[in-house]
Amino acid sequence: MSNNGFFDNYGGKYVAEVLRRPLDELEIAFNQAMKDKSFLDELEIIRRDYIGRETPLYFAPTATKLLGGAQIYIKLEGLANTGAHKINNAIGQCLLAKRMGKKRIIAETGAGQHGLATAAACAKLGLDCTIYMGEVDVRRQQPNVAAMELYGAKVHPVTSGSRTLKDAVNEAMRDWAANPDTTHYVLGSALGPAPFPDIVREFQSVIGREVKKQAAERGIKIGAMVACVGGGSNSIGFFEPFINEKEPRLIGAEAGGIGPNVGENASRMTGNAARDGILQGYKSRFLLDEDGQALPTRSISAGLDYCGIGPQLASLGRSGRVEFTSILDKEALAAVEFFAKNEGILFALESAHAGAAAIKLAREIPSDQAIIINMSGRGDKDVFITSPVFRPSEWLAFLHSEIERLKSAKDIHEAE
Ligand SMILES: *Cc1c(COP(=O)(O)O)cnc(C)c1O
Repeated sequence: MSNNGFFDNYGGKYVAEVLRRPLDELEIAFNQAMKDKSFLDELEIIRRDYIGRETPLYFAPTATKLLGGAQIYIKLEGLANTGAHKINNAIGQCLLAKRMGKKRIIAETGAGQHGLATAAACAKLGLDCTIYMGEVDVRRQQPNVAAMELYGAKVHPVTSGSRTLKDAVNEAMRDWAANPDTTHYVLGSALGPAPFPDIVREFQSVIGREVKKQAAERGIKIGAMVACVGGGSNSIGFFEPFINEKEPRLIGAEAGGIGPNVGENASRMTGNAARDGILQGYKSRFLLDEDGQALPTRSISAGLDYCGIGPQLASLGRSGRVEFTSILDKEALAAVEFFAKNEGILFALESAHAGAAAIKLAREIPSDQAIIINMSGRGDKDVFITSPVFRPSEWLAFLHSEIERLKSAKDIHEAE
């Protein structure tokens, strides 16, 4: 839990005056809800019957044998309904909004994963849903836009600035400031102004609590836990019950992209251009230029491609409790192949950064101990990114034939 919104000197609430009241009201409502048995019971039932919790802790026998060190376990968070951990937070915050009497939900999304989870949660709970998404991202991420619309959400393309995630956040904040009484803003990762880092961690910590219980029941001695870090929600939720203990080692895998230079990665803790700063309402580690402007980032995994990291992780990185490592695109792709071929498990590209970090770490951890990888999501969603890499000419031929098929279908339609 933060100290008045701060994790050491990171965090805080650096927002315009108009956002102070909605943030304060949210904090009070959240603290009350977390003590309210009927709220917690309802959340528990939705987690069980809708999300599909608890998610399995899978022992990976072939990976363990091939890597020749620690026992490899995988927390299959990707089996959660909608395919990733983001639903844990989306459901929690939407239920909280309902308790606060708000009927309208807004959210920002970059790659569309958080928008998709929020749209699904709103459909499930009967809430009106608007998703802010940069116009560039809307064009790039059509499969997720289509899914959001299927769930009944309105996707609002943002045309300001670089027309990507950063601008979508600004637009969502503006909407919230104008409509605080009717609307709740579901922030998608463990960052942003207080109290969001505490709220998102709390709703994601169900992952870590399950791991702790599952490991204890099965007598698993955990040597290390590895998670990928975008904004930091799956990692902080996975680590949460272990943070105040000396063991196990907690390791965050950032996007190393294609190399160490500015614009080639999204390494906020391990990168050259990482520095302290204040952006979008909170103080943390960011990739910034000399004037404090956000630098371009790059990663093959859309979910890790962000210039900031949650303030609690920044603080835990500084104290050394959480270690950070940087994983290249090509290492993540190799990890996708490794776990698919050897375990029949398809990692999301984001989660494959954690998988790759575990592959490197395996021999450092004794064979009577476990490395637990958080597979934050499953890889079905990545077919448009992985197929052009793994089988480029076949994929191109497929896309061509799809275009031809749809064109002729359109001709038929127009002729009618
Ligand atoms: C969004 C996303 C991430 C990165 O976000 P965090 O807040 O750092 O967890 C990681 N994995 C998947 C599957 C995602 O969709």
